[in-house]
This record gives sequence, C-alpha cells and structure tokens, in this order.
Amino acid sequence: MERDGANRSLWQSVEMPAFFADSTSKHYDVIIAGAGITGVTAGYLLQKAGKKCLIIEAENFGFGTTGGTTAHINTFYDAHYDKVIKDFGEENAKLLAQTGPEVIRQIRTIIEENSIDCGFADRTSYVFSLDQKQTDELEDLFEATKKVGLPAQEVTETPFPIPFEKAIKIEGQAEFHPTKYICAVGEAFLALGGTIMENEMVTAVTESGNSAKVITDKNEYNTGDFIWGTHVIPNINRMNFLAAPYRSYAIAFTLKSGEYPEALGEDLSSPYHYYRSQEADGKKYVIAGGEDHKTGHEEDAEKHFDALETYVGQYFDVDEVTHRWSSQFYTPADGLPFIGKAPVEHHVFWATGYDGNGMTFGTLAAMIISDIILEKGSKYEELFSPARFNVKAGLVDTVKESADAVFHLIKDKFTARKIDSLDEIPLGSGDTVSLDGKTMSVYRDELGTVHAVESACTHMGCNVAWNNTEKSWDCPCHGARYDIRGVVLNGPTTKNLKKIDL
Ligand SMILES: Cc1cc2nc3c(=O)[nH]c(=O)nc-3n(C[C@H](O)[C@H](O)[C@H](O)COP(=O)(O)OP(=O)(O)OC[C@H]3O[C@@H](n4cnc5c(N)ncnc54)[C@H](O)[C@@H]3O)c2cc1C
Repeated sequence: MERDGANRSLWQSVEMPAFFADSTSKHYDVIIAGAGITGVTAGYLLQKAGKKCLIIEAENFGFGTTGGTTAHINTFYDAHYDKVIKDFGEENAKLLAQTGPEVIRQIRTIIEENSIDCGFADRTSYVFSLDQKQTDELEDLFEATKKVGLPAQEVTETPFPIPFEKAIKIEGQAEFHPTKYICAVGEAFLALGGTIMENEMVTAVTESGNSAKVITDKNEYNTGDFIWGTHVIPNINRMNFLAAPYRSYAIAFTLKSGEYPEALGEDLSSPYHYYRSQEADGKKYVIAGGEDHKTGHEEDAEKHFDALETYVGQYFDVDEVTHRWSSQFYTPADGLPFIGKAPVEHHVFWATGYDGNGMTFGTLAAMIISDIILEKGSKYEELFSPARFNVKAGLVDTVKESADAVFHLIKDKFTARKIDSLDEIPLGSGDTVSLDGKTMSVYRDELGTVHAVESACTHMGCNVAWNNTEKSWDCPCHGARYDIRGVVLNGPTTKNLKKIDL
C-alpha cells in the first residue's frame, strides 16, 4: 500500500485487495471522491441502501491520512466539551456527545455484517495532566464531559507508565486496524455492486439542476449526488480559510517487558501526546503520537521523531522503535468539523476539518451525508453545516490563519535562498532556492541526481517548502503537498508542479 509520504506507517503492510473497475458506466446515483475512511464508509452505506455508487480514488485505498493515522476511535474530541458548550451552547454539546457512541455502533455493525478481521476492540481512554495548568484544563474537561452525558470518572492510576497530576477515564472508546478495516469495507462495497476507480483524480465538479458533472483526469461522469471524501476540499473555496493543515508525528515501538497497555491515553500538553497498543503482522506495538505543527512551517521535520522517541524513552521500557511516520490533518476554525451540503449547492457534499478525530468524524460524515442523500434527514445537519460561520468561536482563528497564508504568499517570494551552484544543496536534501534569478524547488537525492520543480504551489501560488522526513514539497499556506517529481500528494490542489529541466 502506498501512502502520501516516504516514511512507512504501521498500516501499510496490509494486503490490498484487487479492486476491479467497471469503467464502462458514466452515470451513477452517487460519486464519491477519496478512498479513506470517509469515502469508503459513505460508498458502503449508500450502495447498501440501493444507490448505484462509484468511488474514485486519486491513488490507492488508504493513500491519504487513513493510511497514516493512529486510529483511536473517540467519543470526546480535540474540541473539548467545555469549549463546545461555551461556543455552541449546552444543547449542541450534548448533541455532539451523541456522535461518538453512534459512530462506534455503526463501525461495529459494519464489522459484524461483513465479518471483518481488523482488531476492533472496546477501550477505555485515560486523559491525564502533567502540570497545574493542564490540571485546571482537565478539571474543566472532566466537568463538561460529565455534563454532556459521557461516562467520565476520576482515577488514581492509569495503565500508562507516565507520572501525572490528575487523571480521568472515559469508557466507551474503541480502536482498530484502519487499513484492514477500509480495505474490507471496500470489498464489501464491491460485493454489493459498487464500482471503484483507483489512480484517477477528480479535478472539477459542476452542479446543474438535479445532478452534477464530475470531471477527472481521465473521464467525465454524471451523478445525482457527489461527495468530496478527500479530507481537504480541492481547489479554491471557503475551507481554505476555515480548516488549517497540520502535520502530526507517530512512532511504533516494542516493549522489553512484553506487557502492552490495553487502553487509549493522552496528556494535555500542547500539542498533546497520545498512546495506544496495536497488534500488526503478528507482533505487538505501542503507538505514540504528537509533535504537531502547521504544514510547511518546519525546517527540520525529522527532529519531531527524535523528540517523540526521547519523550517516550523516559517512561516506557522501549525495546525497538520500528516505525516512524507523519501525516496531515485539518483543524477547523471553530473546533467542529464541516460535514454536509456544500454552501449554495444541493447535490455536492463536503466532509473536512476533522482535526485529530477523523476515525469518528469520517464515519460520522458518511452517516450524515448518506442520511441526507437518502432523504432521511439528519439531526446533525445544522451543527456541522459547511455553510456555518460561528463568529463567536472561529473569527479570531480564521483571521490569524488567513493572515498567515497571505504572509507566506508574499514573504516567501522574496526570501528564497540565493545559490550559485546546485552543489550547495547537500545530498539527500531539498530547498526552495534562487539560482540565476529563478526561484525553484530542488531536491538532490543521495546519488546527486537533481529533481527540480517550479516553486509556486498550483493552488494559490505560495512557495512550497521542503519536508525532509516525508521527502515532499509542502505548501505553508493551505497544505497542498507534492512528491519530488512535483506530483500531487495532498489537495487542495489538483495540479502537479511543473518539472524544471536543468
Ligand atoms: C498522525 C495522525 C494521527 C491521527 N490519529 C487519529 C486518531 O487516533 N483517531 C482519529 O479519529 N483520527 C486521527 N487522525 C485523523 C484521521 O486519521 C483523519 O481525519 C482521517 O483519516 C481522514 O480520513 P478521510 O477518509 O477523510 O481522508 P483520507 O484518509 O486522507 O482520504 C482521502 C483520500 O482522497 C484521495 N483524494 C484526494 N484528492 C482527490 C481527488 N481530487 N480525487 C480523487 N481522490 C482524491 C486521497 O488520495 C486519499 O486517499 C490522525 C491524523 C494524523 C495526521
């Protein structure tokens, strides 16, 4: 399984089913772009309900963040319930609290319906504070979590070997192997008569009347409804300003003791660290994650793995760190994901801004959108509407994110490092440089071969920055990413960077 980065995640060893594509039909009831947890779940639910569906994936199943996640399935989120109560009101916070348990029931149902072997397990989550500031935060989170009706309890011990000031446990969480899950759901979708096209990118969708025209780099289709299950909504749209891209880092390691905590855990550092165990390929691991930062804003991404390793090494009896990987998520301006009808459109749906909770919110998006398409309505439609603009919760952050993008758009144009020779770029590294008056993004591989591409991101023109761990060009403005040949890895762009022939 390929992924949108050079590091291999724990999930990539999964055996990919051969997805047979029936490319003859150009008319569908529903077309879904993206084969991560959102797209695959939506396809399954809609096909099962009798719709004729097509999933179009730019690369392969699990290529996006679902192949680089850590797969905690939570009922409490990065937007803590105390903040949600403050920004959206108590009734909405209670509504939000219903989503997690519903999602876990849905995932369990899909697993049972299709006898999926993906290590799904019920888990208790432990949230702990490491200092007084975090303890104050934890107390607010604890009270609010109980208020919205979730089973939170204070505890004096956790299954993790990390000293804490205060800890709570929240029952009713879960975990699974995410790529085993989506591949099996994809097979079930095919068995129900669904169609899958891999290695095909949707580049544009136009709605007219009761249908939409879907244009890809290979075909043109017609559909009754269309879902962007692509994690980030491609091209230029309001989500560029309302959902900001972040990189997050994960490692998997074995323990000398051989005793693996059977729970989920997280502290309240900023950014927070999170932990759980996982069996993969017949071996047990602990997965730890954290060290998030804005995409394209870090000169030395590699150092975040070292920091994570050093941090866990203080507490766990680490035997061997076997995997290191990073991936991308999108933080919504007001804390809640954007799920539902695209603003002003009736047959085009968006699902984005999940923060670090996309196992739950991706499944939830599939449930909400399929309920709307199937004309059942959804009690969550208004709360998550992509057309909302919660001035109270999101305005300051939105202004900051937009200002940040404009700052990069202008500043990076004038600050590319001037070089006289390509030899100034060390082997195995990349940089956006100015050579003979031309700005370009150049990677010199370990053998000295030069790969040069245009620096201006094809989304909105900001200069891309080198990501030294995933060996990619990352845009600091809206998170578009490209491989060393300039081929798109992540939206919102759908166009490659032009290669420069040196
Ligand atoms: C390090 C890390 C750890 C995380 N841990 C957790 C966790 O523990 N629990 C949790 O709930 N969430 C977690 N998340 C978030 C969660 O993994 C994501 O929100 C979720 O995987 C997103 O799923 P998705 O299906 O929406 O998108 P993706 O998995 O990114 O899938 C989108 C797919 O769309 C395809 N695509 C893109 N553009 C196009 C196009 N134009 N045409 C066709 N196809 C296209 C891509 O190739 C990709 O395969 C984590 C995120 C990170 C970065």
